[in-house]
Amino acid sequence: MTPATSQTWEWLRQRARQRQAAGLRRQLAPRAADDRRVDLASNDYLSLASDPRIVEAAIEAVRTWGAGATGSRLVSGSTDLHQELEESLAGLCGTQAGLVFSSGYLANLGAVTALTDADTLVLSDNANHASLIDACRLSKAHVAIYPSGETAAVARVLAARSLPKAVIVTDAVYSVDGQLAPLAELHRAARAHDAVLLVDEAHSLGVLGPAGSGAVAAAGLSGEPDIVITATLSKALASQGGAVLGTRDVIEHLVDSARSMIFDTGLAPGSAGAALAAVKVLLAEPDLAERCRGIATHLHRVLLDAGCNSAPPSAAVTSALIGSPIDALAAQRSCHDAGVAVGCFRPPSVPDAWSRLRITAHAGLTEMELARGRRALQAAAREVRSA
Ligand code: PMP
Repeated sequence: MTPATSQTWEWLRQRARQRQAAGLRRQLAPRAADDRRVDLASNDYLSLASDPRIVEAAIEAVRTWGAGATGSRLVSGSTDLHQELEESLAGLCGTQAGLVFSSGYLANLGAVTALTDADTLVLSDNANHASLIDACRLSKAHVAIYPSGETAAVARVLAARSLPKAVIVTDAVYSVDGQLAPLAELHRAARAHDAVLLVDEAHSLGVLGPAGSGAVAAAGLSGEPDIVITATLSKALASQGGAVLGTRDVIEHLVDSARSMIFDTGLAPGSAGAALAAVKVLLAEPDLAERCRGIATHLHRVLLDAGCNSAPPSAAVTSALIGSPIDALAAQRSCHDAGVAVGCFRPPSVPDAWSRLRITAHAGLTEMELARGRRALQAAAREVRSA
């Protein structure tokens, strides 16, 4: 080992020790195929990931198109299936056109970097998802971070800017605490100051709006030409992949310039087939979204009754603020031991002292599963309080 490399390995070990002491080590916890825990952790908000209609559609797509996309979208990785998926996503969200990426992360990287340059001011909400943060870092734009949801601050910065172009970038529903961004107000500010509003619908597509058409639709803003939507196919749509939805001009520009699409292998056909089937289910069962939201409200009440600090959910995500990462891990372990899977978010996913259990609602949860979830959350809250 060269001296330079051994320094690197020593640094890794030191970081691991520091993380261990702070309760910040992370571990992969593979699910067993016969895992029977109640799922209050995954992003399968509509319980479609194992729905036979979605599974069969994925299998059929693999049979027809093969296991992989075989190349990047501009070479061999676009199929009729990708095109049909783009049209159906655009139809669901009320935009002129759509472009599918191989993940939501890459959709955000592609959209923000392609829609901005050194003459652009990007205003980014400080609670945005890491993929939007990384997209801003990768862009050549000037980036200003604003306090979460504070439209007045956004309007002030937009009014005072010297750069000709501006893009406001926000999650529709913040991924950790599940709150809704003030989209109508942000859009008014964008319109008043000649800016574009880019909205990440990762946690709202399928859960908010008519038939799960998203938060932009729920705010009455479908089809507004100055709004660009990004989405993931991996949550309510129960598959994998991402999309950008907007005007034809925006989508054509992305086809020419979004590096995370151009230099990446196209979305696997199985994933495209599954996501397309999920959109069809959403349209055929428009009350699924409402059921999911009702369960989120129920879970939030359970947390309040257990004495937890929890904000009312806007979509499928709710959370219990715990504070210390070590306590949050203990609460998660307690739930797991009681047969209930919950998420545990610690720094750097949340600010210091904001570690929490992240609880997600799923449309398919039964009364029995919800009762088991309630008992587990109550016990975890008692344990953490008495520790
Ligand atoms: N945006 C938000 C708000 C997310 O929560 C996520 C995933 N957690 C993504 C984008 C990335 O989506 P994907 O998992 O499809 O890459």
